[in-house]
This record gives sequence, structure tokens and C-alpha cells, in this order.
Amino acid sequence: MKTDIKPNIYGYPLPLLRQVLEDNKLPKFNADQIFNWAYRNFKFDPIEWTNIGKKTLAFIEENFDTSIPKIVWNGLSKDGTRKFLLAMNDSKTVEAVAIPARDRLTLCISSQVGCAIGCTFCHTGTMGLTRHLQGGEIVGQYLAVQKFLHEKDEPRLSNIVYMGQGEPLHNFENVKASAEVFIEPKGLGLSQRKVTLSTSGLIPAIERLMEFPPVNIAISLHAAHDDIRTELMPINKRYDLTKLFAAIKTIPLKAHRRITYEYILIKDLNDRPEDIDALVKLLPKKESKMNIIPFNEYPESEFKRPSNETIKWFMDEMNRRGIVTTVRATKGDDILAACGQLKSHSEEGKLNLW
Ligand code: SF4
Repeated sequence: MKTDIKPNIYGYPLPLLRQVLEDNKLPKFNADQIFNWAYRNFKFDPIEWTNIGKKTLAFIEENFDTSIPKIVWNGLSKDGTRKFLLAMNDSKTVEAVAIPARDRLTLCISSQVGCAIGCTFCHTGTMGLTRHLQGGEIVGQYLAVQKFLHEKDEPRLSNIVYMGQGEPLHNFENVKASAEVFIEPKGLGLSQRKVTLSTSGLIPAIERLMEFPPVNIAISLHAAHDDIRTELMPINKRYDLTKLFAAIKTIPLKAHRRITYEYILIKDLNDRPEDIDALVKLLPKKESKMNIIPFNEYPESEFKRPSNETIKWFMDEMNRRGIVTTVRATKGDDILAACGQLKSHSEEGKLNLW
């Protein structure tokens, strides 16, 4: 299984790692021991995996990359949000953000270097896509940040959202593998309810979500009219609202679970009474909840944040008309860590899809 670039071992779900070892005539229980060292003890150097035989260690060292991303910078916001810049082995960088709330600490992780979707409200969207992250580079963001917090004796991460740089479903296989590692009971052991996958609406991948572990699903909706959604999200040209909601119907939902619709509220664009009318028509009441994200202004953006009165009115009106709606507190504005503002300064855009 030699390749020029070794695959990162932390992108291998437990059954797959067992299989790889067995196929190479090595004890498959070594995979369980590796999971224990890496995910329970945060030991990432095979030298420290003392109960694993020499043959297996030699195989691992020859065929896998066992490193985790390096934190090259971190910044703490006044509200406790901490942003990390993480370097991969090829020096490409992505950002991850640890966001505190009352009873949890959520890590917003990246799935790609840059993003090809090109949403017009999004700072990352201006970069274009440089490359997909390997599964192990996605899991590695969590490992690096958790280790950092542990060494500082700070509260540990409890939740994950795939809402950093990139469209997660554009990197389907690697993101799926990373989600399997996150929820593996013998590894990181996160509950499926503590992992949220977000998508801009990549329909062919949404239709494959039955292959995915049953984590929470969030759809970036942002508009209930096709013309406005296309202005905000060029992906809507190919996959419009009618096609999107037909695809959403194919998502297997466990009982009492709902799909979250993310809605960036922008002044005079999607914050009007007619937007509420259209949303109420579009969203299936029992299976939907809406999360309003007041737009975070940044220097080059033409969009504006609505007033606090408008934000409250919009939320109250949605709730009154039967759609459970909350407003996400904006975190980390002072370090550009809020939604859609992740952009590694060292990366140049390479490719746009639309
Ligand atoms: S909002 Fe998400 S999908 Fe859209 S460009 Fe930004 S990172 Fe990509």
C-alpha cells in the first residue's frame, strides 16, 4: 500500500484499520490498541505505543503518517472564543475555532483548504479551493486543539461542527471517515448528537447521506427565494430550492430529530416579511429548526447586519408561525472567527466550482 504521500492514520475508522492490519498478516487487535493510545491517551508517536509489537510498528511507520497538525497561531477573543491556525504536513494551513457556550465547548473544524462553493457573503469563499483535507487531517484538528487545551488545563472540547473552511460534502469520503472516528466508542466516543455536519446543498452528496453515520445535519439555506439564494450562494444556480428540498426528503432522520437550517440574516436582503412567508411555506414544521446568524460585517463585504430589533422581530415571527427558531450569538468577531470569516492568510485561491 505504498504511495508517495502516506495516508494519515487518524482518518482510518476502527473496522478499516483492523482490516488493513489483518490483510497484512498482523494482529488486528493492534488497531484497538492504537485507538486507545491516540484517542484516549493522546499519544501520537508510535514510539510511545509500548504494547504494540515491532512488526506492526514497523508496518505503521512505513505506511502511515502518524503526525497531527501543528498549531502555528492561536488567538483568544474577548468572549472566550479561541481561533487556531493549523499547519498540515505540506505547510497548507486551515483554521479551527473553539466556541464556548454554557455547557459545552464546540470545535468548528475545516474540511478543505479553501472552498470551491464561493458564497458571496463568505470570507473563505473568496479563496477558491486549494485541496481536500485527508480524513486524518480533519480528525487531527480536533486532536491538536484538545491536546492544547489539556496542556493549558482548560475545559475540553465536547462538540464538533463541520462549519469551518470548505464544503464538507464536497470531500465526502474523507469527512465520512472522520465522522466515524469521532463517534467510535473505543476512540473519541462522541455522541452522534454532538457532531453536526453542515452543507451548502450539494445535492448528489445529500442523496448519499444514508451512507453517513447519523449525526446532526445543518443546511445552509440563507434565502427562501431562488433569486436571492443564487445571489448569496452560486450553488443555487445548479441546485435550486425545489431540487434541494426534494433531496432533503431523502435524508434518513431518526425519530424526534430535526434538520437545522442556517440562515444568515442580512439587512434589506432576506430580513423582510415576504422572506418569513416564503420560509414558512418551504420548511416542514415538525422536522425543521432554524438558526439565525446575524451577518458579521467585514471590511470588504457589501452586506450589512440588520438592527437588533429586526433580528428579534424575525425570530419571534418565525416562532409564532410554527418554526422553532433561535438566534446564534455572534462569537469571536474581534478575531474574525465568526461564521463565514475563516480565511487563512497564507493561502491563495485556486479553483471555483461555479
Ligand atoms: S459559506 Fe461554506 S460553503 Fe459557502 S463559500 Fe464559505 S466555506 Fe464554502
